[in-house]
Amino acid sequence: MSSAQNNQSDIPFWLVIPAAGIGQRTGNDLPKQYQMLAGKTVLEHTLNAFLPLTGLQGIIIALHPDDQHFAGLALNDKRIDTVTGGKERADSVLNALHSLTDRITPDSWVLVHDAARPCVKTGEVASMLQALDGEEVGGIMAVPASDTIKRVAENGEILGTEVRDSLWHAQTPQMFRHGLLRESLQRALDENVAVTDEASALESQGYQPKVFQGKRSNIKITLPEDFAIATEILDKLR
Ligand code: C5P
Repeated sequence: MSSAQNNQSDIPFWLVIPAAGIGQRTGNDLPKQYQMLAGKTVLEHTLNAFLPLTGLQGIIIALHPDDQHFAGLALNDKRIDTVTGGKERADSVLNALHSLTDRITPDSWVLVHDAARPCVKTGEVASMLQALDGEEVGGIMAVPASDTIKRVAENGEILGTEVRDSLWHAQTPQMFRHGLLRESLQRALDENVAVTDEASALESQGYQPKVFQGKRSNIKITLPEDFAIATEILDKLR
């Protein structure tokens, strides 16, 4: 049995958690990473998925400049540090990466994972680390598209149907080497590329990250109804 099947991986990596969003779409003043799910905050569930991995070297969490909630969490893992996040998710990730520059080598693996994805499983992360460790560039957790996907005009008319076979939904974690990710993100932002995930920054600089097939249960909490779905998934998984 490989160690990944055993929920474990000792491949060294650093974890970056962008948690500086204000989550307007959840319709609640409390940012989604601090809302409660099955007795813990969303952010605590997210961290708990990574903390058991023996290769985890350290965690950088990007927080909103006016964050009032993080300090109140009962997190006492010495590997956790925080930085101030930026205007967009990519700015928050970049701030976290900059804070690591003097601490790690450029080829160190960094996993970036949304605070708002609390249902990722430790074993899936371990499997991804093992699958992508030999890659030069890295890759992302993703799932193949299962619905038929339409391209739609602003007036609601369907313009066409996409070829589903080659379409995937990008998730997190996204796993890249620190130096390449930091430089690609910086260049993409300087060039005003729309960077919605780390892979898109790498792609814009001519690199071709891989996909690692994850699970549909690794949802990102976005809308109010996602809390009930995440609670159900967590109840089943843990
Ligand atoms: O808003 P969205 O769901 O796309 O955010 C994804 C993740 O990025 C969340 O964990 C959110 O807290 C984080 N984020 C951030 N800095 C921003 C915006 C979002 O760290 N400026």
